[in-house]
Amino acid sequence: MSSILKTYNRKKISFNRGKGSFLYDTKGKKYLDFVQGIAVNCLGHSHNHLIKSIYKQSKKLWHVSNAFIIPEQERLAKRLTQKTFADYVAFQNSGAEATEAAIKFARRYFYSRGKPRKNRILCINNSFHGRTLATIFASNSKKAIEGFGPKVDGFDHFNFGDHRGLEKAITSRTAAIMVETIMGEGGIKVIPDFCLVGLRKLCNKKKILLILDEVQCGIGRSGKFFAFEHAKIKPDIVPIAKGIGGGFPIGAVLVNKKVASGMKPGTHGSTFGGNPLAMSAGNAIMDVMFKKGFLVNVVKNGKYFLSELNKLKNKYPKIIKEVRGKGLLLGLCLHKNQVPFIDKLLKSNLLTIRAAENVVRLLPPLNVTKQEINLSLKILDKVCKNYR
Ligand SMILES: *Cc1c(COP(=O)(O)O)cnc(C)c1O
Repeated sequence: MSSILKTYNRKKISFNRGKGSFLYDTKGKKYLDFVQGIAVNCLGHSHNHLIKSIYKQSKKLWHVSNAFIIPEQERLAKRLTQKTFADYVAFQNSGAEATEAAIKFARRYFYSRGKPRKNRILCINNSFHGRTLATIFASNSKKAIEGFGPKVDGFDHFNFGDHRGLEKAITSRTAAIMVETIMGEGGIKVIPDFCLVGLRKLCNKKKILLILDEVQCGIGRSGKFFAFEHAKIKPDIVPIAKGIGGGFPIGAVLVNKKVASGMKPGTHGSTFGGNPLAMSAGNAIMDVMFKKGFLVNVVKNGKYFLSELNKLKNKYPKIIKEVRGKGLLLGLCLHKNQVPFIDKLLKSNLLTIRAAENVVRLLPPLNVTKQEINLSLKILDKVCKNYR
């Protein structure tokens, strides 16, 4: 019997080795891994450059403290700001911590401007911003908040796609709108570019901040470093995590100058955040991701995968209702409960993971090859053909 607290419904399978897009279970069976730790291992398993980078750093220094200047952290922050909208970065260890810090920074901005009551954050119902007390009430999905009251106040909500509901929910106390640029756990729901442009305009008009949670859709997943770049807009605050460490836990919040002005020494902190070992992973990811052609390839493979999945949908319209997503953040929305389908895929050596709304998420590593995509399509076709 397991001594692990039962907070997950785990598949009865364990792995002891991985290489690129593939995982090997303890019996030696090989799987095509299109979970990749839920969009975390953006370079797949056992990537040589990541291994070397972490190994090299592990012999020098693992951890000091943010009481000192950490050159590896300075370097990653510089690279993240040079490549993006941001002027400053605060390192954390996970996505929930990063989104929670984003909420803190938004509130603190208005506090520092003499508006302490302007502190409410407007979010989408049934979104996903993490599992801390504040972030579950920001996400507002029944399953995540049930039994964890009293409710953490300070969040208002609107429904995905409900433009009028959104405008109506903004009050004089609203400090920021916080949404995932592409909703991951919520079912791979892409906010269209024109809506992102509209969101930015609305925030400007109402003089409030725009927080885009790119924990899942950021770091190249959508085909651009950040998913909001497709819409050519600039948010004020962006929490990131998952992909930035390539499997090493890293979280971070990127902010512009305006938001940074509300923070000063002592207002936020993290013991582990941005330690040298973690930063060696983050810097290695940046080395690879900004190599010429890397993101171009994500776009190319993403388009190919999407169009082939749509062909599959047309071939099996009774099983697949819709194909969703952008870049290599893709999902098959099924007509019925997707869990048995995911189990069938697993039996055929393809690992996928669920999301809300009957969605099967397909999250290959960003350096996946066309042959590996074709292999997944073959398995998907076979499972569809024999389904029910
Ligand atoms: C995964 C995720 C989080 C939470 O990240 P953790 O590292 O699990 O705390 C937050 N926001 C989004 C959009 C996510 O996908």
